[in-house]
Amino acid sequence: IKNIAVLTSGGDAPGMNAGIRAVIRTGIFHGRNMFGVQQGYRGLIENNIIPMNARSVSNILHMGGTILKTARCLEFKTDEGMETAYRNLQANDIDALVVIGGDGTFTGAKRFSEKFEDIKVIGIPGTIDNDLYGSDFTLGYDTAINTVIEAIDKIRDTADSHDRLFFIEVMGRDSGCIALRSGIASGAEAILLPEKFTSVEDLIAKLESGASTKKSSSIVIVAEGHKHGGAYDIAKQVEERFDYYDTKVTILGHLQRGGSPSSFDRILGSRLGYAAVNALINGETRKMVGLRGNEIKLTSLEDALNTHTFKLEDDLLEMAQVLSI
Ligand code: ATP
Repeated sequence: IKNIAVLTSGGDAPGMNAGIRAVIRTGIFHGRNMFGVQQGYRGLIENNIIPMNARSVSNILHMGGTILKTARCLEFKTDEGMETAYRNLQANDIDALVVIGGDGTFTGAKRFSEKFEDIKVIGIPGTIDNDLYGSDFTLGYDTAINTVIEAIDKIRDTADSHDRLFFIEVMGRDSGCIALRSGIASGAEAILLPEKFTSVEDLIAKLESGASTKKSSSIVIVAEGHKHGGAYDIAKQVEERFDYYDTKVTILGHLQRGGSPSSFDRILGSRLGYAAVNALINGETRKMVGLRGNEIKLTSLEDALNTHTFKLEDDLLEMAQVLSI
């Protein structure tokens, strides 16, 4: 491996900059030439590839988003798009790629590295959704939970002062990870998850039980991937049959993706970026670097993408029920 490029792709996530910085500096430490690709796979196709040095990544650890920019690029899904990307990498004499992104990014990386085996590819899990197998945490997830609970704390002040019931919709795509953890950390009365069916009847019974023991407010978290209705829909169904509280809905939206990364995400980004370059130097390819039980482990991109192996922790689900009585 001589020349290594790094890119960020898919949704941006806090901590990506720490990952970029670690990739660039670890590569330089080992005497490699380092490059940054702008706007994800689009930059590969448009040859938007720039040389980077240790100073190119100064003062970025604390910044949200990604200095390399990110994009969703449909052209990379086509054979022609991939071939153009390959030719551009060859023209720059680049023989290894670090991709930071989520499942779509890894699907592209896997296909590309199977097609062009002379380009070695390592993935870094960067998505607030935490929906990849092989890493207990993805980059940006911890910061997103902190952002969510900060928002819920503020909403709770209002909920409590007015005896209100708030339905708060949080991000996570098809994964309930953000919902579950932010629900536990903010003391939500109920958490509606894509992974677990909760009937409106059960939800109302829970809220009634809280009201009967004089709860002055209630917060219900609804994961955006909840399969039986979003926050507005569920709120309407509950409101029709349960009028103890005044009901309000808040969709937190994109504020959950931004902001300065938490210390956890800065350290995770640094560890994963460092590990990604070391993996390339050790001859690895088509793998993801991840954190498992506080150790950095490699997982094949294929396994990382196998969503059937990924699930929410049973003990957290059970505990959330018990602690919200
Ligand atoms: P997030 O989880 O934050 O949304 P992501 O990486 O899953 O991030 P996507 O938009 O799904 O985000 O994917 C990012 C990019 O990966 C796409 O815009 C596309 O360029 C590439 N990609 C996705 N699926 C494929 C595929 N099947 N083949 C080739 N490239 C793909």
